[in-house]
Amino acid sequence: MGKTVLVSGATGFIAGHVIEQLLAKGHSVVGTVRDPGDVAKVGFLCAMQGDLRLVAANLLDADPFTAHADVDAILHLASPYIVNVKDPQRDLVDPAVQGTLSMLRAARANPRVKRVVLTSSVAAVTDEPDGRVLTEADWNSKSSLARNPYYYSKTLAERAAWDFMAAEQPGFDLVVINPFLVMGPSHTRAVNASPEVFVNMLKGQYPAVLALTWGLVDVRDVAAAHLAAMERPQAAGRYLCVAGNMSMAEAIALMRAEGYAGKLPKLDLSGGFGTALMKLASYTQPAGIGSYLRSHLGRVPQYDTSKSQRDLGIRYRPAADSLRDTLADLARWGHIAAAARG
Ligand code: NAP
Repeated sequence: MGKTVLVSGATGFIAGHVIEQLLAKGHSVVGTVRDPGDVAKVGFLCAMQGDLRLVAANLLDADPFTAHADVDAILHLASPYIVNVKDPQRDLVDPAVQGTLSMLRAARANPRVKRVVLTSSVAAVTDEPDGRVLTEADWNSKSSLARNPYYYSKTLAERAAWDFMAAEQPGFDLVVINPFLVMGPSHTRAVNASPEVFVNMLKGQYPAVLALTWGLVDVRDVAAAHLAAMERPQAAGRYLCVAGNMSMAEAIALMRAEGYAGKLPKLDLSGGFGTALMKLASYTQPAGIGSYLRSHLGRVPQYDTSKSQRDLGIRYRPAADSLRDTLADLARWGHIAAAARG
């Protein structure tokens, strides 16, 4: 039986795939967007087959969701995903935390809601991989307004959600998805901050090959994890979502092998000396980028995804396949030159 599902942030990169998969399975979707009249942003949603209705909601409004939450389940994806902002409290923390709490209050006010799925992030799990194997028991305790403020916003929002559940004991349960860096095809021309890393590499914005390693996961698998988190009775707690690691050197090798040359860096600063040099140079970067570099250079994330595979049934697409699809999609939208051999 199809459910009626409220999805916040319907214009987003991940939400587009979530809504596509919900509609394909026969669910009815109420999608919240900041401006339903913004044709450039909502056009792709209106073109989808299925029962979709768009409503206006801003995370910073007093009570943006209650009027739309007479639904069976809620998927709360809306949250600003921006690495470098002017005012981290205003631009990241306030919308992330207020929006999450507003959504939980909206769910509490609508007894029909049985489950809320919150899109958190690996950012709420760690902001500085330290070689230990990360599990759902780990929490980011290091981020602040000055250090990785996006990570801070995701940590505070998820903490606020679990605190709400403990204090209020509402009639619905909460399941949280914690994806790593999300790759894959986009429904729109907008470039999400994650695939943008690879656009920037090809545009020559990285001076050298750095000792950065990302955990990657495909947007289609992240979307499937949201649906399973909503549908499966056994889903509970948090779920790390990641397919595998890729270092910057490996990503560059893959891009070259696939025929994407662009202005990929050649100078190798991924060794010990280069990493020390880049940590110093990070202080010349905008605050959000500088703190990211200092907390990630030379660090390789390790993690255990058995919980998402077991409970949600996710079989992750290999990271390399996902990156290939991402590159082809970025070329399709004109963000990077098409592969020479493509
Ligand atoms: P996205 O494409 O930038 O989407 C973010 C969405 O949030 C957009 O729909 C945006 O609406 C909405 N939003 C932002 N500020 C808002 C506000 N004040 N009021 C209402 N809506 C607002 O990012 P995404 O990657 O799909 O992110 C979706 C969720 O996944 C976020 O919670 C993000 O933290 C999380 N996540 C993303 C990644 C990743 O690698 N992409 C990894 C882990 C977790 P507008 O279109 O109006 O701006």
